[in-house]
Amino acid sequence: MNIHKQLKTYFGYDNFRVGQEKLITGILEGKDVLGIMPTGGGKSICYQLPAIMMEGVTIVISPLISLMKDQVDTLNEMGIKATCINSTLEQEVLMERINEIKTNQYKLIYVAPERLNTNVFKDTIRQLKISLIAIDEAHCISQWGHDFRPSYVEIPKFINNFNKRPVVAAFTATATKEIVLEIKKLIGLQNPLELTTGFDRSNLFYQVVKVGNKFNYLINYLNSNFQTETGIIYCATRKTVESLVNKLREKGFSVGGYHGGMDTEEREKIQEDFMFNRLRIIVATNAFGMGIDKPDVRFVIHYNMPKNMEAYYQEAGRGGRDGEKSQCILMYSPSDVIKQKLIMENEYSVPEREVLQYKNLQYLVDFCHTNDCLRNKILTYFGETIITDYCGNCSNCLDQAEMVDITVEAEKVLSCIYRVNQKYGVNIVIQVLRGSKNKKLLELGLDKVSTYNIMKDYNEQVIREIIMTLVARGYVHNTTDKFPVLKLTSKCREVFKGEVKVFHKKELMEATTSKKEVERKSSKSVVEGFNEDLFTQLKELRYSIAKEKKLPPYMIFHDKTLKEMASSFPQCKDSFLEIDGVGIKKFDNYGELFIKVIQDYYTTQKNSDC
Ligand code: ADP
Ligand code: ZN
Repeated sequence: MNIHKQLKTYFGYDNFRVGQEKLITGILEGKDVLGIMPTGGGKSICYQLPAIMMEGVTIVISPLISLMKDQVDTLNEMGIKATCINSTLEQEVLMERINEIKTNQYKLIYVAPERLNTNVFKDTIRQLKISLIAIDEAHCISQWGHDFRPSYVEIPKFINNFNKRPVVAAFTATATKEIVLEIKKLIGLQNPLELTTGFDRSNLFYQVVKVGNKFNYLINYLNSNFQTETGIIYCATRKTVESLVNKLREKGFSVGGYHGGMDTEEREKIQEDFMFNRLRIIVATNAFGMGIDKPDVRFVIHYNMPKNMEAYYQEAGRGGRDGEKSQCILMYSPSDVIKQKLIMENEYSVPEREVLQYKNLQYLVDFCHTNDCLRNKILTYFGETIITDYCGNCSNCLDQAEMVDITVEAEKVLSCIYRVNQKYGVNIVIQVLRGSKNKKLLELGLDKVSTYNIMKDYNEQVIREIIMTLVARGYVHNTTDKFPVLKLTSKCREVFKGEVKVFHKKELMEATTSKKEVERKSSKSVVEGFNEDLFTQLKELRYSIAKEKKLPPYMIFHDKTLKEMASSFPQCKDSFLEIDGVGIKKFDNYGELFIKVIQDYYTTQKNSDC
């Protein structure tokens, strides 16, 4: 049987995602492979599908026990025999599984790396034909990255012990050159087929929001977007998590908190409630996420700015793994920058490391102040070549906001930085421009410079916004140390000489003295061509099945699959099987139930039409 047929039969999908087919074909031809794909890119199928087709057994090495269980449940739901071996199993269950494995009852065995070289495991697989070893999160073997796991060192030892070496397939979402080199070398991949699919997540909508009252914005957002779907809100500290959870609860939202200070049991409970859609919202620190694989997270809101682009991309990337439209909203406020710096100061004592941290933080601050495509700004960070200026799916690209010429203001700011000898940071420069009577300022004699008080009619936020915009555009450099200083770059001459004009969004430039809030509406989720009522009914059915089977709803069918049903109304086996995401086993298990709901709906609609 060919791989397209298998994809449809087991996984129910009609088409491969970018890169999947090449990697799968490579593995089936007996080549080692290295797949570098973003979160949600569909790495799992790249080894699961060959595992079904190859003779013998596939061993999957995965670092996270919760994900292992998730994958095994998903595979079993699709009628693929899989199991897992890890430290959480009771002795009795473990023995039972070992017996089943020995008697060849599984096609895939998920195993934690620290188990690989134990006598028990080696003995268990001794008699089996192992055709493929798949390594998930392969970057965990690299000391360069931030996810290094000592147990990954067991992997090459394990591979080298085979008389006949199985095919080895490694997968990661991290693509820095150093890490990729290390993965290949340390795992010992043999002339691997290497494939990078790129970092773009086209279904994710990116937006940066600058508002005075974040909480009000959040409430509005939650009340008008994805009301029946789940999302994550990230905060910088445990304290913020706790207070936000309380405030949201008071407003009646279904919400749970998650952070490193809670005990394991409590955290697991919250996580599970979220996975099963019993909780709509999780408010969390960055401690939350590594172990979740929920495909239908519709929004990821950063209530505070994270520490760098890599962290932002990863966290925001937990939205929309199923490929459906999802939103990533980053709420910017200058105080978050200070908060992140404080966290960094406590974390790192090595000065060089600190400088790098500040530099990375500044990239994200620039991201928050650019008027260009946000997606491009992300992709540029990861070294990708940009094909078009306009992605059409980020707040900057969609923004029809009126732009105003701020060249004169920009000149004033730039000359002020020059007049204070490029020795001071944002706050002092703002105070000089606004003619502050601050004691320190007067002591420094800064009231004598010619730019003192030349922007007295502008409020502090507006000037700050102008300065950060000039930094984002490269006219000013905000030095990357503990007490950053504004310095002019050579590029700023373009402005002084009148070669370029500087524009900025009008709404952010309103120079009123009151704190004007700028709350742009976030683009509403686009609902395309499916029947919402039927979709709701199908979701209810899915929820009741999931509850009975004690599985998360997405393991029964993905949202996308239900939407397709609610758009094409399949009422017989053949048409039902045509739906993307319906495999043969899923049809056998649930087809009739869903068809019944569709038929009933169809009939009532028809009758009411007459
Ligand atoms: P990754 O491990 O790369 O983050 P997964 O393997 O978990 O991503 O896949 C993400 C989601 O995409 C899963 O829910 C999976 O079912 C879905 N998916 C994978 N391949 C396809 C495909 N070819 N067509 C449709 N959906 C797919
Ligand atoms: Zn864009």
